[in-house]
Amino acid sequence: MDLMYSSTRDAGIKVTASQAILKGLSEDGGLFVPDHIPELGVSLKELSQMTYQETAYEIMKLFFTDFTQQELKDCIRAAYDSKFDTEEIAPLVHADGAYYLELFHGATIAFKDMALSILPHLMTTAAKKNHVKNDIVILTATSGDTGKAALAGFADVKGTKIIVFYPKNGVSPIQEKQMVTQTGDNTHVVGIKGNFDQAQTGVKQMFADKALEQELAEKGFQFSSANSINIGRLVPQIVYYVYAYAKMLARGELQENEQINIVVPTGNFGNILAAYYAKKMGLPVAKLICASNENKVLYDFFKTGTYDKNREFVLTSSPSMDILISSNLERLIYRIAGNDAVQNAEFMKKLAEDGVYEISDAMRAELADFYGNYTDEQESAQMMKELYDKTGYVLDTHTAVAAGVYKKYMAETGDRTKTVIASTASPFKFTRSVMKAIDPAYNAKSDFELADELSRIADVKVPKAIEDIRSARILHNTVCEVEEMPAVVKNFLGI
Ligand SMILES: *Cc1c(COP(=O)(O)O)cnc(C)c1O
Repeated sequence: MDLMYSSTRDAGIKVTASQAILKGLSEDGGLFVPDHIPELGVSLKELSQMTYQETAYEIMKLFFTDFTQQELKDCIRAAYDSKFDTEEIAPLVHADGAYYLELFHGATIAFKDMALSILPHLMTTAAKKNHVKNDIVILTATSGDTGKAALAGFADVKGTKIIVFYPKNGVSPIQEKQMVTQTGDNTHVVGIKGNFDQAQTGVKQMFADKALEQELAEKGFQFSSANSINIGRLVPQIVYYVYAYAKMLARGELQENEQINIVVPTGNFGNILAAYYAKKMGLPVAKLICASNENKVLYDFFKTGTYDKNREFVLTSSPSMDILISSNLERLIYRIAGNDAVQNAEFMKKLAEDGVYEISDAMRAELADFYGNYTDEQESAQMMKELYDKTGYVLDTHTAVAAGVYKKYMAETGDRTKTVIASTASPFKFTRSVMKAIDPAYNAKSDFELADELSRIADVKVPKAIEDIRSARILHNTVCEVEEMPAVVKNFLGI
């Protein structure tokens, strides 16, 4: 029997995995969730002998049950290849008592590559399975890293087009340069005069716009989403947590079934939700530690049970976490409400109308697996400097937030459970902030001088993603108002 997916807002909507991947978002605005979370089908001991690709297959076959073995294996092979600069795909580095799971060895040196290198393959396979004739138009809002990873994943993939919206003044210079230099005839990049939440809301509105859908269909197009709300992104993210555990087991750093903690620098709540799913599949995980930057909506939520986005939006040096509406949290809310779509839909309505909702005590009790905290700009800079001075290991700004929160967690609880910290970006992606944290004098240098200097002090080669943009030409320069987003899309599609 196939594992079916329903909407978090309407239990009556039921689709297969491939249909959920194609649609991205349910038509009622809900997110697709599996009927149940399957259990790991193989023992941790067996997993400890597997490669990343083999582990990926073991996880994905449980969720994507309407794909054949061959289809899944082909997708996995095409995704996790030499685009990654290490054979391990996701290496685990031990530094100062924590295990950093480096998720940034893909084409765009951020963790989004882990899922976005496979999503285009899952999607084109899903299109074939469902006899889709339209071209698929990927609409994406990005706080910086998703955009480039999605562009790189979909560039020149036949039968697809991709349009990325980013906040014009809300991403790092390197992130922007990476996007606006993207090649591929099917790629479009647009800066909006607004913040990430406005970009994301604009994209969601286009997905929900029936008239626009009709207009597109007449011209042979249909929308889909590469945002982290797509189940085709969430599931590939479960893989690396299982892989990290299995690697620790293989290295003799864990006893079988010994629990670990996982710390995740969080924005849209996709990465940590994948860790939660891994736990629910049976991976021995104790605490899920949710790390926020100064946009600490999630910290407040875990502390009080009230989700309140009505607050000032802070631009930080960890822009991929500058988010006030964490979309994937909806999947957790749905689950802790007892898989109740009606109740979840009410919360989401409140969020849309008032920007705030409060969960019940019974639901709060279901959050015992989570611990939330945050670090401010100064604390995360301090963290980068401290770890570098002590070990020579250099963190990016997002991972530094996670490391800072982990430090607070340990000070508060004294918990010495072995801990994996999701390391979500290469420090080369946020070079200026990283180098300034290590020594303010570096600020006088240019971005590329800083990359060379970072390479020297950390003894790590400058990644190809950075070498590539040194001399790349700017190919995209559209900037628009938030209200103009649909018009821009139509213009690109020639309708
Ligand atoms: C996207 C991103 C995050 C946040 O991940 P979510 O799944 O949105 O919570 C953290 N760090 C980096 C570097 C990212 O690109």
